[in-house]
Amino acid sequence: MATDDITEISSPCLCGKGKIVVSQSMPDHAWVRESQISYSAEIDCPDCAVIYIVHHDYHSLPSLVRREDARKRDTAIARRKAAESEVAMSPEAQRLIPRIVSAIDSQSSMAARHRALQRFHLSYESLGTYRKRPYDGTHAVRSASGGHLADIGSHPDIGGEDAAYFAAAAEKIKALAAEERALELQPVRTNARWMRL
Ligand SMILES: [Zn+2]
Repeated sequence: MATDDITEISSPCLCGKGKIVVSQSMPDHAWVRESQISYSAEIDCPDCAVIYIVHHDYHSLPSLVRREDARKRDTAIARRKAAESEVAMSPEAQRLIPRIVSAIDSQSSMAARHRALQRFHLSYESLGTYRKRPYDGTHAVRSASGGHLADIGSHPDIGGEDAAYFAAAAEKIKALAAEERALELQPVRTNARWMRL
């Protein structure tokens, strides 16, 4: 098993009484690619740790964000996920799923099945790719989130008597997703080495 080379750099924290410690970790061999270098940061200051939290971005430098902002965003994400799983677990979804499956599987050719999958946004691949690895409606619908099911069910031709339920759910999920995007975390400027700002 390969070992990692770890380098630590300390910079002053925002209030100046403590420090921010960033560790850089990379594989211990000569051919390191940028994507193999990772960073992790810690706030070594009790005062700053009350206000800020480290945000680790995959394959990017860490940043400091306000704890309060991160908490608000986590709450928004949890609300959107709860709304999505409410739809996914609903009796309406249990009625919708077999309709989607049959609308796909009842098609007589592979090209028609592919068109049906694309109509429901359950496939983004080309017909050529689909032909190489075809799958049925049951498989396709398994990956659909609650928000996705709500979008599909909003169409009266597939949602039937539940279309209004799905349309309302889709609106609610869209509004919650918009709230979540508006709470995108803004990094705080630290001027510390190996931090995003
Ligand atoms: Zn501090």
